[in-house]
Amino acid sequence: MSYAQPGTAGNSSIPTYDALIVGAGVSGLYQVLRLREAGFSVLCLEAGSGVGGTWYWNRYPGARFDSESYTYAYTFSEELLRDWNWSEHFAAQPETLAYLNHVADRFDLRPHIRFDTRVAAATFDETDHRWEVLTESGACFRARFLIMASGILSATQLPDIPGVDSFRGQCFHTSRWPHAPEGLGGDKSVYQGKRVGVIGSGATAVQLIPHVAEGAAHLHVFQRTANWCAPLHNAPIPAEEQAALKVRYPEILALCDRTAGAFMHEFDQRSMFEVSDAEREAKFEALYQNGRGFALWLGNFRDVMTDIRANRLLSEFVAKKIRARVKDPAVAEKLIPTTHGFGQRRVPMETNYYETYNRANVTLVDVREQPIECITPKGIRTAAQEYELDLIIFATGFDAGTGAITRIDIRGSDGRLIRDKWSRELKTFMGLQTAGFPNLFMHIGPHAAFCNIPRCAQVTVDWVTDLACHMRDRGLTRAEPTAAAEDEWTRHAEEEADKTLLTKANSWLMGDNIPGKPRALLLYAGPAPLFRRKCREVAESGYQALELR
Ligand code: NAP
Repeated sequence: MSYAQPGTAGNSSIPTYDALIVGAGVSGLYQVLRLREAGFSVLCLEAGSGVGGTWYWNRYPGARFDSESYTYAYTFSEELLRDWNWSEHFAAQPETLAYLNHVADRFDLRPHIRFDTRVAAATFDETDHRWEVLTESGACFRARFLIMASGILSATQLPDIPGVDSFRGQCFHTSRWPHAPEGLGGDKSVYQGKRVGVIGSGATAVQLIPHVAEGAAHLHVFQRTANWCAPLHNAPIPAEEQAALKVRYPEILALCDRTAGAFMHEFDQRSMFEVSDAEREAKFEALYQNGRGFALWLGNFRDVMTDIRANRLLSEFVAKKIRARVKDPAVAEKLIPTTHGFGQRRVPMETNYYETYNRANVTLVDVREQPIECITPKGIRTAAQEYELDLIIFATGFDAGTGAITRIDIRGSDGRLIRDKWSRELKTFMGLQTAGFPNLFMHIGPHAAFCNIPRCAQVTVDWVTDLACHMRDRGLTRAEPTAAAEDEWTRHAEEEADKTLLTKANSWLMGDNIPGKPRALLLYAGPAPLFRRKCREVAESGYQALELR
């Protein structure tokens, strides 16, 4: 089979492509574009009925960016950057989904995407160095390259609470929010006037809860672990500011290029202990009052994420803010985390979150004090009482990083399942590949950059595309990282993780929310510029870290 035209390979009648991409979200769409431009035949398999990935699935009210809209956009096309206007500093989900639909149409990507197609299994064929991919509906495809653009937070996690099936009301996970009858968002009527229970208090719940509180007859929030949140400070972007932002694009993107997380927030290079108490408090106050998005976290003193004493100072400051914003002191204390410091878990960004607990129709239920025992036909029963509900919303998170990959039966060159390989220890080469699974690539895979997603996805998509071109030009058909290269990257990723306070708290970032998952930071904690440099070095060395055949 030649590159560029899909066909069939050998005696097989199975449709065969150069590349199969799993997922038509932010990284999948760009991967389709790049491979197609480079002359490869490509098919993208997407479980949803439309493009957008995360932004297709997560339609819960309140879902929005918490990185600045203009830093989240694709930057590969100056015309696209120039033409698209974001209406707010942190765009809401329908607008982001509209943007990704616009990208799919503008670059004519839809003919390469098969919707409503969930991948069930993929097996590497050692005889012709191709992947054979089976979908849940029984369709089969073959391709040289299998590229997982399946998302870091897409494998939903439902808690194992007995009795769910007996519930007589409605229940769903936040990422399966019913679609609005019209438009690109979610259906807001589902909770109007209802008695609602939300289980969870992570970033999703923090965005959702203020909206549900406004429409529900009563909202019970079932919180197991309080999280430190930071004010988002969202605002519309008026026309004048829009124009000014576009002029500043090169400057903004250059800033993202040099920061650790590829966001437009840069750590203050001073330690908290180099400044006076008054100066430190003034900086905290300014960031809390005016700092947009991740500013309080990633624009703070440099030791906030590395020194537990510095971290404590910021945590104490934020605790005071929570006490000031929540009227009932007992409720305020429950909302102040005691299990970890500020930023040791992914910080939820909030708008009126704490004030929501001052409403008469909102009750915080501490499920450490009164654990959930079961779901009954009428609602949720805890150790203390039964809460009667019409709607239960599971804001219970995801099997992050690896889940979207390990839930598929992916078998490598020796027939081994990827989920078995990662069942005891997470090992990857730069989050891009893993040994034993030739020609399998991952975007924002486990161990890849802890980063503003599109900024880093563009880097890994370009890297995979360049490698595919390199292989085509040399008649190579098989690429796999050497065991030594994988060991070295995994060690390096672990060392970078250990420099931070992230590994010292329980969170989905460490796989702690999934029973039996080996503990490892699921993202690369080293700075994004270092990750990009390493990507470049591997390519410039002629891919010495890979065994190419
Ligand atoms: P999450 O952070 O994992 O939160 C899940 C919540 O469910 C936690 O509060 C957890 O409590 C609770 N939970 C799970 N099982 C439970 C049980 N059996 N009983 C009681 N509580 C239970 O998930 P998420 O809120 O969906 O956020 C995941 C990530 O998605 C975020 O950290 C962020 O990276 C991303 N996200 C991004 C945006 C954005 O960019 N705008 C918005 C939303 C989410 P424990 O903490 O006790 O386990």
